[in-house]
Amino acid sequence: MTTGTRVLVLNAGSSSVKYQLIDMLDGSRLASGLVERIGEPAGRLLHLPLTGEPRETVRRFADHDGALHAVAEELAADLMGLDSPELAAIGHRVVHGGLRFTRPTLITDAVVAEIRRLIPVAPLHNPANITGIEVARSIRPDLPQVAVFDTAFHATLPEHAARYAIDRKTADEHRVRRYGFHGTSHQYVSRATARLLGRDPAEVNVIVLHLGNGASASAVAGGVCVETSMGLTPLEGLVMGTRSGDVDPGLVFHLHRVGGLTIDQIDDLLNRRSGLLGLCGDNDMREVVRRATGGAARSASNEGGEERREGVDEDAKLAFDSYVHRIRRYLGGYYAVLGRVDAVAFTAGVGENSVEVRAAVCANLEELGISVDPDLNAVHSRQARVISPSYGRVTVAVVPTDEELEIAQQTFALVHEV
Ligand code: AMP
Repeated sequence: MTTGTRVLVLNAGSSSVKYQLIDMLDGSRLASGLVERIGEPAGRLLHLPLTGEPRETVRRFADHDGALHAVAEELAADLMGLDSPELAAIGHRVVHGGLRFTRPTLITDAVVAEIRRLIPVAPLHNPANITGIEVARSIRPDLPQVAVFDTAFHATLPEHAARYAIDRKTADEHRVRRYGFHGTSHQYVSRATARLLGRDPAEVNVIVLHLGNGASASAVAGGVCVETSMGLTPLEGLVMGTRSGDVDPGLVFHLHRVGGLTIDQIDDLLNRRSGLLGLCGDNDMREVVRRATGGAARSASNEGGEERREGVDEDAKLAFDSYVHRIRRYLGGYYAVLGRVDAVAFTAGVGENSVEVRAAVCANLEELGISVDPDLNAVHSRQARVISPSYGRVTVAVVPTDEELEIAQQTFALVHEV
């Protein structure tokens, strides 16, 4: 067994690699960074050591192999290279674990082959995750490496929540079911919320609202996930930065048959040109709120038009209201699923930072025991905190997510089990 106390967390995307080197003794980040625009002429590596200045390299990183070797060199320059005896393991974020991987898994050739077999259900993500794993294994074949799956926490969804009401044979043949995503975040935040309440996660029912550029909700009963808003793919559920979330599936046939759009065009529309962006031309909630509340107004239906510095921007207001309305529908739905709700936790970029979204989501829900104290809600902090009044039956909280720490902890725990 390893005596090292550090875990390197790798999150390999299609053209990027994010990394964090975490000391498991205290959870501190010894270094972090990212390589972006891999394969393009001007790639960029930004390395952030714990102490000292950030270091930026702008050059071509031909592929993930080149990018990861460059990361290894940066870490080595800080005397924390991949050959360091302090390094206990590498933890890889893997988006799709299908039905096979419901727990963190020590990576072997067979595991890589199985993750590869899941590519048809995660064509956008799993190939890059596999590349990251393969390169890291080629650099340190002797080091334990662990895959932590975004879908794993949702493996406990009951069958009636996981199945779409379609022909079972067809569904099974194509592995069609609701898998859910952002699981590492939902797991971390639901536990951290129980901690904030000073209670055992096994006793607490939590609705987690992960509102980032991608967004999802989950209902967690006593530490076990029983519902989540993303499905077969991360397209289902809430209105997101650029994704539509729930639509009538008939919309796809309509746009194809009547609108003449190809399947690829519809895919692009729903994943990249919808959500907040599609409704108002901005996918950043800061900008949406600024426009919706009377900042500089620019109409999405008047692209490139003059900026009007007056009043409320109706497109942005519609985007904000649609975003909030969808969350409230899920909040109410998950209340019914859980029966008793102890806490609602807001997390990720929007959830952690947007006073306006939190206030709007929780408005007029006193009958459900949900309310927000305006002064507590207005506090800006990086700490987990309660924002509901003391008389609230349901605790409303802001709980910053930390997927990398969760991946590192699961990786470290597994390495010490074996
Ligand atoms: P994430 O995917 O968790 O990194 O979240 C990214 C999103 O968080 C951005 O697209 C913004 O819309 C949102 N965000 C970040 N900071 C703020 C803020 N101060 N207020 C509102 N939204 C924010």
